[in-house]
Amino acid sequence: MAEAALKAAPDTEQELTDGFHLIIDALKLNGVKTIYGVPGIPITDFGRMAQAEGIRVISFRHEQNAGYAASIAGFLTKQPGICLTVSAPGFLNGLTALAHATTNCFPMILISGSSEREVVDLQQGDYEEMDQLAVAKTMCKAAYRVLHAQDIGIAVARAIRAAVSGRPGGVYLDLPAKLFGQAMNADAGQKSLVKVIDAAPAQIPAPDAVRRAIDVLKSAKKPLIIIGKGAAYAQADDAIKAFVEKSGAPFLPMSMAKGLLSDLHPQCAGAARSTVLKDSDVVVMLGARLNWLLSHGKGKNWGDAPKKFIQIDIEPKEMDSNVEIAAPVVGDIGSCVNALLNAMGDKWTPAPSDWIGAVSKKREENIAKMAPRLMNNNSPMDYHGALGVLRTVIKERPDAILVNEGANTLDLARGIIDMYKPRKRIDVGTWGIMGIGMGYSIAAAIETGKPVLAVEGDSAFGFSGMEVETICRYNLPVCIVIFNNDGIYRGTDVNTAGSDPATTVFVKGARYDKMIEAFGGVGVNATSPDELKRAVNAAMDSGKPTLINAVIDPAAGSESGRIGNLNPQSVVKKKK
Ligand code: ADP
Ligand code: MG
Repeated sequence: MAEAALKAAPDTEQELTDGFHLIIDALKLNGVKTIYGVPGIPITDFGRMAQAEGIRVISFRHEQNAGYAASIAGFLTKQPGICLTVSAPGFLNGLTALAHATTNCFPMILISGSSEREVVDLQQGDYEEMDQLAVAKTMCKAAYRVLHAQDIGIAVARAIRAAVSGRPGGVYLDLPAKLFGQAMNADAGQKSLVKVIDAAPAQIPAPDAVRRAIDVLKSAKKPLIIIGKGAAYAQADDAIKAFVEKSGAPFLPMSMAKGLLSDLHPQCAGAARSTVLKDSDVVVMLGARLNWLLSHGKGKNWGDAPKKFIQIDIEPKEMDSNVEIAAPVVGDIGSCVNALLNAMGDKWTPAPSDWIGAVSKKREENIAKMAPRLMNNNSPMDYHGALGVLRTVIKERPDAILVNEGANTLDLARGIIDMYKPRKRIDVGTWGIMGIGMGYSIAAAIETGKPVLAVEGDSAFGFSGMEVETICRYNLPVCIVIFNNDGIYRGTDVNTAGSDPATTVFVKGARYDKMIEAFGGVGVNATSPDELKRAVNAAMDSGKPTLINAVIDPAAGSESGRIGNLNPQSVVKKKK
């Protein structure tokens, strides 16, 4: 193609551009500032050129972590996070994150280099040959391949629009190696680029839907508002707060919606979760799904009292997914909540005070019950002692980003560590996936410029642990605390059938803090809450990459954390 273009104009000196530069220009034109990826054939030079052209290119050690970084960048910024990988194996490594982004409704674009179509389609055995487009299609919102340089502008525009419009999600962009070097006239190239106008158009709810929702809400004696990460994503923080406060209803934040309204807000029912789920009569779902995380909206957790659901969501197909929705309100959260606020008018009667009183009472009881456990200074630590310390660390630094994964480490931290501001808690999401830790930490530090506290189970950390080198290389303000209880769930399992270790245990007394020292970071071994407090405070204040090995009693955890009920049970009795 390059030769053809040159031959076409033998006499005139024409200025040329190529695939490399058109992709970079298209991304820059649309505001892309950062690419997360791993270099290699055929995208090594592309990464170098993107860096030279002013895009920040963050190189990871494994594509899955780069992908998780891109996905959470999408959640935090409402712009698609970009992940760049090599062909077949690199692409596949990035694919888990692409599927994760789609499942969690985070906008992300996975850009992978690939082999030539001709060779792939005839299965002639190219270097890292794979029909990546076909594979990606089942795991994302949209997948596109670009064969000609003049189509790059349109392809990038479509990818961006697909990622952020409607329900956000993952998009795949397939770029065969030959595309990068394809030349074309520079002017024509510039003209072929597309700046996406209004990439995520407002979706205004129908007036009838709003009226219906208001009627249902008005009828409530015991209303409840469940706020999900879709609401956090929408960045309609003030409107949501106004709506919740005007309604007077208790609210329950889903994990990543914590802090959208402070966990200390008088209407927060986080500490009275089972009571409000059971006893409420009208439930407003605000950017949250009635999936497994909410027992599908039915069963014993929801009690016997009949309930009506109002659901506010951008995705019409979400309605009636698990239970009947009495009042579906389809639109973007900002538009919907503003419309509801308008319809409530100035004379709205807030939720009945006996309901509010009953919820507050339960909440205060539960908080008081927990309080002493959070103040213990046991060594080795239990979860409550260690998390009590981290809770104070975040209270004193409400702008810091909290990353959280693990089993017990996740379940307990979610309940214990209060959040005060929107989009400060990022975690395992809809799948309860392990491995997001370091990718999320890196992207959070880069996208927000704020210090990051990553609270990690020792097993969870292992999925992305090598990225501590990346954290040190870019000198990011990330403090990783590993809850080291010597294994998965617990470190006490014993294999009675042979000399191999039990399947759920790790090396006893492992020193994860040594890992970061290998790359020039600060490593600390903390054996008591007091030691942990000193180390975390120092790390958060200095901004130096730090890894703290928090020694937790190996017997402290419980199997599968709080979701042990999801494990299938065998009918065959265990051998003694
Ligand atoms: P959580 O796990 O916190 O309950 P979910 O991921 O289950 O949250 O649900 C998020 C919901 O929010 C999804 O159904 C998604 O369609 C919706 N959503 C995402 N962005 C928006 C938006 N801007 N406006 C309205 N709904 C949104
Ligand atoms: Mg959910």
